[in-house]
Amino acid sequence: MTKRAAVVGAGLAGLACARVLRRAGLYVEVFEQDRIIGGRMATTRVGLDTFDHGAQYLTARSSQFNSYISEMVSSGYAARWTPRSSSGEQGGGQMLPWYVGTPGMASIVRPLAESVRIHNGRKVHTIERSDKGWHIWMEDETSVGPFSAVAVAVPAPQAQLLLGRLDSIAEPLSRVRMSPCWALMVRLDERTLPDQDVFSDMSEVVRWIARNGTKPSRNTRGESIVIHASPAWSRQTEDADPEVVAEELWGEVSHILGLPPVRPVKMLAHLWRHGLVDSSLGESYVYSSDHKVGVAGDWCLGRLAEHAFDSGTSLGRAIVASLV
Ligand SMILES: Cc1cc2nc3c(=O)[nH]c(=O)nc-3n(C[C@H](O)[C@H](O)[C@H](O)COP(=O)(O)OP(=O)(O)OC[C@H]3O[C@@H](n4cnc5c(N)ncnc54)[C@H](O)[C@@H]3O)c2cc1C
Repeated sequence: MTKRAAVVGAGLAGLACARVLRRAGLYVEVFEQDRIIGGRMATTRVGLDTFDHGAQYLTARSSQFNSYISEMVSSGYAARWTPRSSSGEQGGGQMLPWYVGTPGMASIVRPLAESVRIHNGRKVHTIERSDKGWHIWMEDETSVGPFSAVAVAVPAPQAQLLLGRLDSIAEPLSRVRMSPCWALMVRLDERTLPDQDVFSDMSEVVRWIARNGTKPSRNTRGESIVIHASPAWSRQTEDADPEVVAEELWGEVSHILGLPPVRPVKMLAHLWRHGLVDSSLGESYVYSSDHKVGVAGDWCLGRLAEHAFDSGTSLGRAIVASLV
């Protein structure tokens, strides 16, 4: 009989893991709390405009992520982005090529989700093991199972809530630190920013400003801007009202860039509560082959999308090896 595996979290790590499991012949079900897949690989629509309010671009150091990106570029899900940086040069001073999803960053995960059953809008509350295998319990007290193995691919603090009682996994999880990050999406009718596409480390408050419309396959009318606050400022303000945060961040950007007093047509602030990794684990994944449960995510290896992909892929392989 075909073995069933469950993945909690439909971000890049969870879906990369799901692809390995599916390719090995397992029946895979993914549980995702949001209505949409992608996690921090996110694109949101505000009116007629779309904004990448999570990850801004991708780099690929490992050969496996490199070949995934090449697949994406050939099938039209990704393209190179060479923004103009502060020095005016093309390419933002990048050491490696930068890639973006097209038409939005969320497109990057789409091919990974093929042939996988995804349960959207299902927040996992508890995972529990019986003689027959693992059962996944949702917040609404319904459950699905049994599964032969479970991969938990969510930010470390959220994984701790699900696996805190399993010492071999809880201890490594407790070593990981993640920070919040406010993202502000701003729409202006006219081009207003100085003639440059990305601005980094602008002040103690603002870490990143990007002209979203300069990415390939985006709307180029007016100005669509994504601003990321610094981790320190985001931590100080993480319980603040998003509208107040939006006003403060826009005020700071206007001041730093010396903008004329323009009123944005739209502004929307979003908090990534576990957005950025401060200190990672330094291992690709953690897996208990006795219990057949493991964890993956960017925080295992670093803080980038490529780390999430490599971590999820490695956990998938470990699960497959333990089930044969
Ligand atoms: C503001 C910001 C900017 C960034 N910029 C870049 C960049 O330019 N380049 C780069 O390479 N990386 C960047 N990153 C990092 C990149 O986005 C992440 O490394 C990557 O997307 C993490 O993928 P993941 O699958 O590990 O986690 P996530 O994308 O967080 O996926 C986890 C998923 O699990 C779901 N989930 C959590 N708990 C539960 C539960 N209990 N039940 C069900 N589902 C659950 C979540 O909803 C989410 O969909 C950025 C991140 C942020 C926040």
